[in-house]
Amino acid sequence: MNDRRTILVRYDEIGLKGKNRDHFINRLVKNIQMLLIDLEGLEFRVPHGRIFIHCSKESADECILRLQKIPGIASSSVGVTRKPEFDALAAVGVEWIEPLLQPNKTFKFCVRTNRADKSYPYKSPEIDREVGSRILGQLHSQGLEVSIKDADFTLEIEIGQDETVVFYNRVPGLRGLPVGSSGDILGLISGGIDSPVALYRLMKRGCRAHGIFFDNRPFMGRGGYDKVLKLSKLLNRYQLNSRLFVVPFEDIQVAIRDNCRPAHRVVLYRRMMYRIAQAVARQKGCLALATGESVGQVASQTLENLNAVSQVVDLSVFRPLIGMNKQEIINEAKELGSYEISIEPHPDCCSVFMPARPATRAKIADLEVDETKFPWESLMQEAIEKMECVELDDLTV
Ligand code: ATP
Ligand code: MG
Repeated sequence: MNDRRTILVRYDEIGLKGKNRDHFINRLVKNIQMLLIDLEGLEFRVPHGRIFIHCSKESADECILRLQKIPGIASSSVGVTRKPEFDALAAVGVEWIEPLLQPNKTFKFCVRTNRADKSYPYKSPEIDREVGSRILGQLHSQGLEVSIKDADFTLEIEIGQDETVVFYNRVPGLRGLPVGSSGDILGLISGGIDSPVALYRLMKRGCRAHGIFFDNRPFMGRGGYDKVLKLSKLLNRYQLNSRLFVVPFEDIQVAIRDNCRPAHRVVLYRRMMYRIAQAVARQKGCLALATGESVGQVASQTLENLNAVSQVVDLSVFRPLIGMNKQEIINEAKELGSYEISIEPHPDCCSVFMPARPATRAKIADLEVDETKFPWESLMQEAIEKMECVELDDLTV
């Protein structure tokens, strides 16, 4: 029995959700179960305010590693379940602290108890004192001291109604809300640095983020596609059950290049991307679009041009990076793990499709004139019909 571990998972924001609380917690538990599905012998318990996972000593570290990638978790810790008796609790402290002591050096510790079970006959500070003094009694001669303020080691005790857990070391989680609790969105994803970060931010707000990629393979080769697939797989590890829609975009780009004012090309491409994304979102039950745009980052992201693209859709367009600078975005990409993939070299389509001087303040009326010059409705329809759907769960990570 002693090789069993108890993982304590804490969530925070869900607690604020009033009547929907159960919905959020059930969603989080389901997400955790799915992401740990291949680990054997796990047992889940969900008492008020906490999630407990019982597992073997061997799988505990892997569980903790994966829990760090699950939105909605505030922190998690590995511990052991014990009877709520001072001697038994202190014995765990001795077992963990003793190996950390060094000859002729002092080592500071403290005990912190959270008494969720208010019927337990001792209050938290009393438990701290009782357990702490037992540990100190056994290890004082080896340099152990008590310090509440700057302890080297904090032994934490959770006294619950039917389970008492002792643990140390809180591993911070992503916080936010469990994926799926807010609904599905469709994110425009390119192989760049920004869009994966934008989707990651929305996943942490409870959205399941599917991706849509506009692919220009005949001109750019497979490089872009492969990168987007890798990025989408990475994002799927945080959420599961997401899809990538790949829309062939070359016919539309060629039509715009050959028929419209060069300076307008980029905004026209983007208006088509938005239109198609909205149609696909509606088809697939996604409630909003998302992009990695940020004000002023490139010519297509001036206020005028952002308006000119938003104007072609009615769905909400989320731009979680809108006020961020590139360095802030890069820092988050590193945290997510996407940065190294995004900076892999990929083919550049500038020479073929990009104008020398893109308009920074395209006027909507002028764009609409350009759009009478090519059959965008039928091209859009064709592109959607040829769209490929990749189930990201099916691919090995
Ligand atoms: P990223 O912004 O992801 O680093 P990027 O810089 O190549 O890629 P931008 O030109 O900044 O792309 O485009 C802004 C946003 O438009 C992207 O964040 C992404 O949401 C969307 N986008 C651009 N190109 C594509 C594409 N080929 N397919 C899908 N979405 C795209
Ligand atoms: Mg960008």
